[in-house]
Amino acid sequence: MEMKLSRGPWMRRQFTTFFSPFLTIHPSSFSSIPSTSIHSPPLTHSLSPHSFSNARSLSISAPATLQSSLSPTPSEGKEDSGIPMKGSKVLLKGMRYHELEKWVQSHGYRPAQALMLWKRLYGNNIWAQYNEELEGLNKDFKGMLAERAEFKALDLKDMLTASDGTKKILFTLEDGLVIETVIIPCRRGRTTVCVSSQVGCAMNCQFCYTGRMGLKRNLSAAEIVEQAVFARRLLSHEVGTITNVVFMGMGEPLHNIENVIKAADILVDEHGLHFSPRKVTISTSGLVPQMKRFLKESNCALAVSLNATTDEVRNWVMPINRKYNLGLLLNTLREELCLKHNYKVLFEYVMLAGVNDSIEDAKRLIDLVQGIPCKINLISFNPHCGSQFRPTSEEKMIQFRNILAEAGCVVFLRPSRGDDQMAACGQLGKPGEIQAPLLKVPAKFQTALEGASV
Ligand code: SF4
Repeated sequence: MEMKLSRGPWMRRQFTTFFSPFLTIHPSSFSSIPSTSIHSPPLTHSLSPHSFSNARSLSISAPATLQSSLSPTPSEGKEDSGIPMKGSKVLLKGMRYHELEKWVQSHGYRPAQALMLWKRLYGNNIWAQYNEELEGLNKDFKGMLAERAEFKALDLKDMLTASDGTKKILFTLEDGLVIETVIIPCRRGRTTVCVSSQVGCAMNCQFCYTGRMGLKRNLSAAEIVEQAVFARRLLSHEVGTITNVVFMGMGEPLHNIENVIKAADILVDEHGLHFSPRKVTISTSGLVPQMKRFLKESNCALAVSLNATTDEVRNWVMPINRKYNLGLLLNTLREELCLKHNYKVLFEYVMLAGVNDSIEDAKRLIDLVQGIPCKINLISFNPHCGSQFRPTSEEKMIQFRNILAEAGCVVFLRPSRGDDQMAACGQLGKPGEIQAPLLKVPAKFQTALEGASV
């Protein structure tokens, strides 16, 4: 609450500064949005045993300003050595293996004990959250950990199950903010956990519910990693092995690149969670410099939300395009992917009726991705409260897909999952009273949007 009060006016200042030439404050922008699903199926509150949030600042025009104005993680301090802390204790899940090993040694214990601890935190189906779960560890070592180390970065608040089996987990952070994580079971033995990387998001994509919240703060590496650990701990017995991680929850992952790369390193560590780097996907709305850095420093997969085939439309639906336009984004990918071996980027394309789903769009998309090793996901738009857009009909999506496929593109239709519990793509979060502004709709799309608000 404290953060909301101090941030509100500042947030508004940021918006008006950046968007003033385009700004239309929609009346609904300042109305309170119901916290639960806009659809009516009964919520399945299937869990709330232990316990389990929202910073805004829009600085697409000046990410550096944003970064410096945000406390990276209010709940996490740093020792002089750079080790992440929670209160007076070291936050174990905020360290890569070599950092943990160094910390353990600095307290007079052997590297082998660090490895045993790492395996209990992340491996062997233990996913330890409490000192008592560290079976087999030396008594003195456990005593030291009880005194100096913190296992948990998140508290379970609630879990909702959608009619298709998709689960949305709400976690409370130490500062009281709430984040959401989604687990998407798949019949083919591939279960995906969709993790959040920020509380809210600064990018203000016009079709995204999370974007309405603005950005409250970055998540720490520990808060990101623990979402995946929690998912395995809580749900592996029910949904089978969780094999994939996608950074497509709340937030723009590359806006929090330091912590995201660190979290991804921890997720793929072969002695721990051991996710395949190909199955850990980091998504971006198109932060070009950070994307270049990511491609150099990480072997994990990259997804880019494209969602438009012209700068006119993308400037509107994804304002980040005003800073890094389509040409720059795609040329950067073309150049950078030449340097990677056997690597394909995944383009995400949310289909918005009358906005980006025409036959001309399909043809332009084919041209735009020429020379980029890629796959394309066509995603059905998931409506939410106050949304201006309508989903493209299934028939039209199939037609769009066929045009791309006939031109030789690798293209998939991605059905909506978990939308009855607001767990689907673009539906996460809970905007407060002060929301990111809706941007002025270009005149030629006004008819397409008429009557679309839900
Ligand atoms: S789509 Fe992603 S980047 Fe865009 S506002 Fe939503 S969370 Fe942020």
